Amino acid sequence: MYNANPFQQPGQWYRGNTHSHSTESDGQLPMSERFGAYREAGYDFLVLTDHRKVNDVSAYSTSDFLAISGSEVHPSNPYGGATYHFVAINIHETLNCAKMHPNAVLDEIKAQGGEAVLCHPYWSGHTITDYLPLRGYFAIEVYNDTCMGIGKGFSEQAWDDLLDRGGPVLGIASDDAHGTEHDCFHGWIMVKAEDLTIESIMEALRTGAFYATLGPEIEDMALEDNEVTVKCSPAQSIVFKAECSRGRRILPEEGELLTEATYSIPNGAKYVRVEVTDATGKKAWSNPFFF
Ligand SMILES: [Zn+2]
Ligand SMILES: [Zn+2]
Repeated sequence: MYNANPFQQPGQWYRGNTHSHSTESDGQLPMSERFGAYREAGYDFLVLTDHRKVNDVSAYSTSDFLAISGSEVHPSNPYGGATYHFVAINIHETLNCAKMHPNAVLDEIKAQGGEAVLCHPYWSGHTITDYLPLRGYFAIEVYNDTCMGIGKGFSEQAWDDLLDRGGPVLGIASDDAHGTEHDCFHGWIMVKAEDLTIESIMEALRTGAFYATLGPEIEDMALEDNEVTVKCSPAQSIVFKAECSRGRRILPEEGELLTEATYSIPNGAKYVRVEVTDATGKKAWSNPFFF
């Protein structure tokens, strides 16, 4: 299922944010202004994910911008940790999950044609204990911008724990926009899709045809002769991560930057993913190649 290589398949790149709020829940902008701000900032799509409700967003799509409906839902957690935050992308009916098991909520999201993201693990204090019993989500937020308000926006370890001990899962960077500046336009995904329709974007998400970024561009990734090669915008480091102690950080010569690196896949590795860090410290994350 997660077998796409977006860098070597046809289509267009579309920039999108999968997590945002309006005055319909605890966001500071009405829906029209939230969508307008992202459209004007050069985004191709935005998913509106107000807490515990689904809004009709059909009025906000234009010929070159896609408004996607969704919700952030909060099933209780029978496994000891805090209440879950799942972003449901492309659902159309409000999901009242107060008394539902989290896996029933994940089933319902899929039944509506949607896909679920596990949100901001670090901010939630969630660990593998909270996530291993769950089934049917497709991605985890490796970065959530509004959570940087308490310095807990990065959830790389939670992603790797799930990759190592759970199963394949994809990585998303999102804004979780509530305000108008501090948590807007900082974390997004670049999606390779046939066209800017809900069907094509959902297909690209489901197959992993995207990468997550705070700014750096991943330009190409190839899997050949048991090696992963990546090309990217100028970087101060390129890191290849596989399970547990496997991986490698590639650094440039003193005073220079990297735009390419290659890594030999360790014997028996389950996956390899790539992190690119630019000269200002901003990161991009590829989805893993799964073996
Ligand atoms: Zn949340
Ligand atoms: Zn949120």
